[in-house]
Amino acid sequence: CSPSTMAPSHALRCCKRALNWVPVLFINLVVGWSYYAYVVELCVYTIPNNAERISYLVIFHIFLAMFIWSYWKTIGSRPASPSKEFCLPRAEKDLFEREERAEAQQEILKKVARNLPVYTRTAGGAIRYCDHCQIIKPDRCHHCSTCEMCVLKMDHHCPWVNNCVGFSNYKYFVLFLAYASLYCAVICATVIQYFIKFWTKQLPDTHAKFHILFLFFVAALFFISILSLLSYHLWLVGKNRTTIEAFRAPVFTNGPDKSGFSLGFSRNVTEVFGDQAKYWIFPVFSSLGEGHSFVTRLVHIDPEQANSILQQNGKV
Ligand SMILES: [Zn+2]
Ligand SMILES: [Zn+2]
Repeated sequence: CSPSTMAPSHALRCCKRALNWVPVLFINLVVGWSYYAYVVELCVYTIPNNAERISYLVIFHIFLAMFIWSYWKTIGSRPASPSKEFCLPRAEKDLFEREERAEAQQEILKKVARNLPVYTRTAGGAIRYCDHCQIIKPDRCHHCSTCEMCVLKMDHHCPWVNNCVGFSNYKYFVLFLAYASLYCAVICATVIQYFIKFWTKQLPDTHAKFHILFLFFVAALFFISILSLLSYHLWLVGKNRTTIEAFRAPVFTNGPDKSGFSLGFSRNVTEVFGDQAKYWIFPVFSSLGEGHSFVTRLVHIDPEQANSILQQNGKV
């Protein structure tokens, strides 16, 4: 590229990158306004007695803190990408690039993949290879065109957090949905009595009225939509499926199987949330494994070996 053709595409890319933050900005503005409406208009101006005011403020701030914490962890976690072991070694890479026939390229990939823990294939039965990143894709790894990288255990690219949801932040994402719906539920449950009082004109028309009526509607709307997304993801966690796998079953050496990674409900939950219950409710990393390999039902290994792998993963 000559500098004259590079400049506009660079500017375009910067512009696109800035635009990607618009949904995050929107969420932050809504949360910022909800904070003002709840703390100032409801708690300061509308609630008449101190005991109620203080208890509402304490509960509200606890849920807000957990919600913001898990939201920013989801946004701030860099997606995990495959380690160097999944790149072709120098000699094989040269061979691969010189080779023009797809079958011969597959033979090279097969040879390298023999030493890697990859058990899934493309729909056609070939080794999964990313041409952009030039790596053999680990199981459950997918290339994200927005992030321009391969993401381990990719779930989906989420515009609301402007980040890929995958191995590195899936737990944070589920907690973000849980705390966001709890935050909305707390608002709805505490605002409703004042909502009714304003609606039925038991309270005078003040500027607080507009904020409180609107606050209840917005919180109820977000609660319903986030709760349905949360239920879907809890179901996915229980089934050990990613959103991508729910739409297209992963293909193993002996065919597609949408439950190929499922190890039973409790084991599936531990894989995402970790085996120490004290960390489950906090957005700190406690998922099991390292994201490159997953125990599958279809790989025939004896139970002893499977157990030692699970324990190893637990330690990591
Ligand atoms: Zn890639
Ligand atoms: Zn992405």
